[in-house]
Amino acid sequence: MIRVMIWNENRHEKTDASVAAVYPEGIHGALAEPLRREPDMTVRTATLDEPEHGLGAGALESTDVLVWWGHLAHDEVLDEVAARVQQRVLQGMGLIVLHSAHMSKPFARLMGTSCLLRWREAGEKERLWVVEPGHPIADGLGPWFEIAHEEMYGERFDVPSPEATVLISWFAGGNVFRSGCCWTRGKGRIFYFRPGHETFPTYKQRDVQMVIRNAVRWASPGDGPVMKLGDAEPPLEKL
Ligand code: ZN
Repeated sequence: MIRVMIWNENRHEKTDASVAAVYPEGIHGALAEPLRREPDMTVRTATLDEPEHGLGAGALESTDVLVWWGHLAHDEVLDEVAARVQQRVLQGMGLIVLHSAHMSKPFARLMGTSCLLRWREAGEKERLWVVEPGHPIADGLGPWFEIAHEEMYGERFDVPSPEATVLISWFAGGNVFRSGCCWTRGKGRIFYFRPGHETFPTYKQRDVQMVIRNAVRWASPGDGPVMKLGDAEPPLEKL
């Protein structure tokens, strides 16, 4: 079983009636719902206002893949919690970073760049093109899918060059964006997925849910060796 933890800031839902109308169960609830139907996943949720944001050491130790949505309150995330998430990723925990979480503390720590991008809130059409059809995150998708209304994110996206770019977005306003990006850090796999502005029902769309489900499976910890660093063992051949 893949032990999934969905983390949501959960502030827009409390303060903005239009967001609460789109996501009455919270963005975390909407993200959890389709994953709970997967036979190989167990799903928990945690939010910013819980003690240690619901991510005490025990919670992270028992998480295989962490999904992160945040926007208004990145600065309120305790540095020690962000550092703990980073360490768990280096040890092998998968991390799925959604939409405005491009500026979250755990993602910024793991990328080491500004993670800034260009944005426009005009509710324009987004078309996401699959550019790596053999990648497991593209399983079940068509050549492209569309989201009728989304916030625009445009290049440049100031992140290290991804190890794989699975999706590229085109927006009606003319911008393009690397929308589905993969990295490894230590033993951990990281996937950034662009869609999910809080005022649109993006996470209720089937293609979007499929990408997140595939990404959770892809990011779940592998079975690679624990590498001993520092002094090497004695020579394996006679010197
Ligand atoms: Zn947004």
